[in-house]
Amino acid sequence: MVMETDVAILGAGLVGASAALAIRRRGLSVALIERDYGGSRASGVNFGGVRRQGRSVAQLHLSARAHPVWTDLERHIGIDGEFVPSGHLKLARSAADLVSLAAYAQRVEAFGLGLQILEGPAFRARFPDFGPEIIGGSLCPGDGHANPRLVAAGYATAARMAGAELIEQCRISQFAHSGSRFRLHADDGREIRAPVMINAAGAWGSEVAAAFDDTLPMRIDYPTILVTEPLPPLLSVSLGIEGGGFYGRQVERGNLVMGGGFGHDGGNDTARPDGEALARIGSRGAAILPAMRGAQIIRVWAGIEGYTPDKSPFIGESSTLPGLFHAFGFSGGGFQIAPAVGLILAELVCDGASPTPLDAFRPDRFANTALP
Ligand SMILES: Cc1cc2nc3c(=O)[nH]c(=O)nc-3n(C[C@H](O)[C@H](O)[C@H](O)COP(=O)(O)OP(=O)(O)OC[C@H]3O[C@@H](n4cnc5c(N)ncnc54)[C@H](O)[C@@H]3O)c2cc1C
Repeated sequence: MVMETDVAILGAGLVGASAALAIRRRGLSVALIERDYGGSRASGVNFGGVRRQGRSVAQLHLSARAHPVWTDLERHIGIDGEFVPSGHLKLARSAADLVSLAAYAQRVEAFGLGLQILEGPAFRARFPDFGPEIIGGSLCPGDGHANPRLVAAGYATAARMAGAELIEQCRISQFAHSGSRFRLHADDGREIRAPVMINAAGAWGSEVAAAFDDTLPMRIDYPTILVTEPLPPLLSVSLGIEGGGFYGRQVERGNLVMGGGFGHDGGNDTARPDGEALARIGSRGAAILPAMRGAQIIRVWAGIEGYTPDKSPFIGESSTLPGLFHAFGFSGGGFQIAPAVGLILAELVCDGASPTPLDAFRPDRFANTALP
């Protein structure tokens, strides 16, 4: 009932699983501990947007490291995860939106995203299916989308095949640190001991940090997704909109997958979609793509995600307890960057530092900030 390992990773979402894979490849033993099944939470139920466009400069450093993994995913984890480099188009509804998109393109030029600002007849000719309120957009040709259900579980499987101990259906309910060891006690009596622990517990990460007296601010929300019946081809790119509130993509089978609103707490660590939010997403979708009007909605759900005050994750070693590394609080944007976060965590654990700039993600960055 007692297991000793080099690194204990709490949470087999995409972040924990990609860290497990990277650390195993560096030769350390790893226990990847998951209350449910690998990738069954946010990592497996998200929208599937593999998007660099729109991220902050700080996050683009992570995106830049993740991008080559996505375009060669099969070599990294043995499946392609249905990644499609469709391009990501951020829509504009006004001249002010276009100005803001152009300013962003200029600000992030050094990252080589190849952003193209499109408007007027050239935009209409290329994207004839958008409704009249859409006047242009910014296209990032190398971005795309993937199937989160495949990718998240695929990472956990790849970590297991690389030799990580994947321990599913094992909820850790007591956290202790004594001597030089973390001691993680599961509901079923198992105990996992390790000198290093990675807190990749997603929306529950702040709770886990608090168990070690590390206070990291985060709120929880419940992003909502809806899916239509299969429709004829309408949308070749993955969509976002300046100012937020809508995103969409069309999968190969024809279903449109859309999001942009929030549901609510369903109790017992579950999430419920919200009727009004779903109606809003559907009507926005119909205004953007009039040909989808009248389509049947066949599936809706909500996931559980942690949001930090500045919408950037916590990545790095705890300032209160050496050996504890946090990687959570991805604030609705962890899917694309997770492969890089795993590589970075392996560097922090094995080398003590990473070449990727991480200052913006310091876990203690709110320590002296009065938050509302
Ligand atoms: C509906 C939705 C749409 C999204 N769309 C996008 C998108 O298009 N693009 C994008 O980049 N990002 C998107 N995101 C965000 C992205 O999914 C998350 O940021 C990312 O998956 C976070 O991964 P994670 O591994 O940190 O968390 P999770 O996947 O939540 O994994 C954490 C794991 O820790 C486990 N755990 C927690 N506590 C314990 C415990 N005590 N014992 C054992 N196990 C525990 C949980 O069961 C869980 O499986 C979306 C999120 C949602 C919910």
